[in-house]
Amino acid sequence: MLRWSIATVTMGGTLEVKLAAAARAGFRAVELFENDLTFFSGRPRDVRARAQDLGLEIVALQPMRDFEGMPQPMRARNFERAQRKFDLMDELGAKLLCICSNVHEDSLGEPERSAADLADLADLAAQRGYRIGFEALAWGRHVKDWMQAWDLVSRADKANLGIVLDSFHICVRNNPIAPIADLPAYKIALVQIADAPAILMDPMSLSRHHRCFPGQGDYPITEFVEAAIKAGYRGALSLEIFNDQFRGAPANVVARDGLRALQTCGEALDARRLEQGLAPTSIGSPLPKAPAISGLEFIEFATSSAESPRLVALLEAVGFRRVARHRSKDVDLYRQNSLNIVINREQEGFAHSFYLVHGTSVCALALRFDDPQRALDRANALGAPTYHGRVGPGEAVIPAVAGVENSLIYFLKETPGAAAPNSRAPGHWDRDFVFEESTQPAGPLTAIDHLSNVVRRSEFLSWVTFYKSVLGFVDEPQVELADPYGAFYSRVLSSPDKSVRIPVNIGDGGATTVSRFIETFGGGGVQQLAFATDDLFAFVEQARGAGVPFLTVPDNYYEDLSARYDLASDMLERMRTLGILYDRTKSGEFFHIYTKTFDERFFFEILERRNYDLFGAANTPVRLAAQAAEMDETVKARTEFGM
Ligand code: MG
Repeated sequence: MLRWSIATVTMGGTLEVKLAAAARAGFRAVELFENDLTFFSGRPRDVRARAQDLGLEIVALQPMRDFEGMPQPMRARNFERAQRKFDLMDELGAKLLCICSNVHEDSLGEPERSAADLADLADLAAQRGYRIGFEALAWGRHVKDWMQAWDLVSRADKANLGIVLDSFHICVRNNPIAPIADLPAYKIALVQIADAPAILMDPMSLSRHHRCFPGQGDYPITEFVEAAIKAGYRGALSLEIFNDQFRGAPANVVARDGLRALQTCGEALDARRLEQGLAPTSIGSPLPKAPAISGLEFIEFATSSAESPRLVALLEAVGFRRVARHRSKDVDLYRQNSLNIVINREQEGFAHSFYLVHGTSVCALALRFDDPQRALDRANALGAPTYHGRVGPGEAVIPAVAGVENSLIYFLKETPGAAAPNSRAPGHWDRDFVFEESTQPAGPLTAIDHLSNVVRRSEFLSWVTFYKSVLGFVDEPQVELADPYGAFYSRVLSSPDKSVRIPVNIGDGGATTVSRFIETFGGGGVQQLAFATDDLFAFVEQARGAGVPFLTVPDNYYEDLSARYDLASDMLERMRTLGILYDRTKSGEFFHIYTKTFDERFFFEILERRNYDLFGAANTPVRLAAQAAEMDETVKARTEFGM
């Protein structure tokens, strides 16, 4: 039976913690790494009992290294080692022993001899009722490709000897995937799944540190699993991930993300099979269809009565007006055009807790869904439970799930026409809010172009998987840039229609702007809200007049700009005077500006796109440097005042 499995090496912690995390996430099978036993205080049979209690099958014991094709006396020693592995398997109740191709410098690399060794080992295993799986390591001394491993397995020709197919080794060597479908099913001992980024690095380092879950990297995992299933394989599909960040993260989170990634991979696989007129694989229950998301209905700030006047002043200076007050809570709705910002000053409940931990900041995003209930069912099926908040009499219940740093993502029903100018507010607004004069004041900002999440490095891939699987977002290739104090990495995740775009950013280095944000914010969160306008120059002139503090751009930036582009001198001068940044592609132009950071927590970007679809990454180092200078000033001021 096809089933999801996870190798214990994927998670961090003790073996007990790993097994419990795997079971809790919903796995029913694990691959046991022998190293995990080394640190286990009990006996191997205790592991078997623990696994049984948790409903986990131990599908394989891993790994036995440097076995095939060794000269004597090492060959004889290897067979003794194998007997000890079988003894261990007796206690564990595992039926499959995985051998990875020899990397030893003394290995002979004579196929006949290696095949004979595997055949003899298979005979030995058969006496004890066990199977042997042979796997090609990409850096094996003689066997590097699955086709070579298959050659040895075929030559050995033993019923209890099969091949272990590991997507990492296969994809990193660019081995063909399609011919896997022609392998005899009973000859595939185990299928291991690992994705990885398509970066140039020696395969061993890439494998040991950068393997990741399906959908987090660049490998064709769905096609790989599809080929194995076409071959008729119906065994365990096992995540085997070596990743320092994963081992450093809580095992529960890693196991949940692993299953989430596999479920999404299974969904993609079934979609491909459907196209080919094939039955679904039915590994687990099918997921409710991914949602269609058509935009951000509102952004909610958590703040206090004391701090909100400064936030409101900033919002008003960029064109927002208060249009409604909540019927029962200290919550206001600010609007311009179709943009909604909710200011929450409640002294209890979710937003207040969020404020106490993070200060004035974005505590919730509300997305518009075609079918919020189905979207919620999907989220639940992917291990993202529904958040149930306190609701007052007559208030709308807006279901939510937890987003970055336990902020909330509200699941709202899209309301056709609600965003049209001067239309009445959608139902949920009327129910909870009392509107004052105009329901939709005009203003210079026309859309929420995107918002950025900053997350801890160890959480980066977790959020990539969350957005892709739970919300059905798609990602763009990762961008890597310089920060004055380290490095900055960004991957943009968007709803398929691009109405919601979220660059997820991480920093590498203790004093990078990202790291400092995480320090002052108390974790990850929304660092940037980017608003679109039709005329940035007019906007900045007006906003500067209204006292909006913008980030200072060094003069050298404009010198560099004039050297790179043939910009008209009056335009360049206007950009310099106003502090506007510029980027250009073959087809379009981009103008943007950043506000100074509000309480070291978040900032606004205002941008004007002219047939330009990127994010101005070329100017990110300038922004990071200016923000670093701004932060250094803050630190200096604090020191001077003895704060
Ligand atoms: Mg492997």
